[in-house]
Amino acid sequence: VIITQGQYVASAVKKDQYPENDLPEIVFIGRSNVGKSSLINSLTRVNNLARVSSQPGKTQTINFFEVGLKIAEVEGRKAFYLVDLPGYGYAKTGKEKRKIWSKFIEEYLLTSQRLQFVCQLIDIRHEPMASDVEMFEWLVKNNIPVLIVATKCDKIGKTVRQRSIAAIKRKLGVAELSVLPYSSLKNEGRSDLLDVIGDSLVE
Ligand code: GDP
Repeated sequence: VIITQGQYVASAVKKDQYPENDLPEIVFIGRSNVGKSSLINSLTRVNNLARVSSQPGKTQTINFFEVGLKIAEVEGRKAFYLVDLPGYGYAKTGKEKRKIWSKFIEEYLLTSQRLQFVCQLIDIRHEPMASDVEMFEWLVKNNIPVLIVATKCDKIGKTVRQRSIAAIKRKLGVAELSVLPYSSLKNEGRSDLLDVIGDSLVE
C-alpha cells in the first residue's frame, strides 16, 4: 500500500460542516499527547498535515483529510477520509466542555455512514487510563470496529513491549484484541497499519 496524496479538506464542529464526498472514513482517536498528530504525519508522510500541537485539548474540531492510496492487488487508486478527532481525557478541559465534546463526537461516530474502523491510540508506556477504557467500551458497545494502536513504541525495548501489549489487552478486558505497535519517530508499524487500512478499503 502506497500513499499517493494527502490533503486537508475540512474542519467541523457540527454536522453540516462534514465534507460531502462519499468516501470511506477511518478515524483516529486518543488522549491528548498520545502522539496522534505525529502518527498522522508519519502515516501520510505529509508533514504538518495534522499540526503537532503543543497545546493539548486545544483543537476541538473534527478534522477531515483526504488520503489517496495505491493498493498493489487493486487497479487504480483508492481514497479515504482520515478523520482526526479531538483528544479526550484532558484534565484542564472543564466538565461542561467535556460534555459538549463527547456529545459532538458521539453523534459523529454513531451517524457516520461510511466509517470503516476507529484507530484508538494508547501510549505503549502506560496502562490504559479510565478515559481510554471508557472510550473503548463505548465503541465496542456501539458495534464500532476498533484497532488499538500502541504509540511511541520506540521508547521501550522489545521484551517490555510484549508485556505492555499484554497489559493493554488485560486492562481493556479483551484477550484476542489486535494491538499494533507504532513509532512515528522510526516509522515502525507504518506498513502494517497501511495494510489494515488497505484491506478495509477493498473488502
Ligand atoms: P497529540 O497531542 O496526540 O497529537 O500528540 P503529538 O503528536 O503532538 O505528540 C506528543 C508528544 O509525543 C510530542 O512531543 C511528540 O514528539 C512525541 N511523540 C509522538 N509520537 C512519538 C513517537 O512515536 N516516538 C517518540 N519517541 N515520541 C513521540
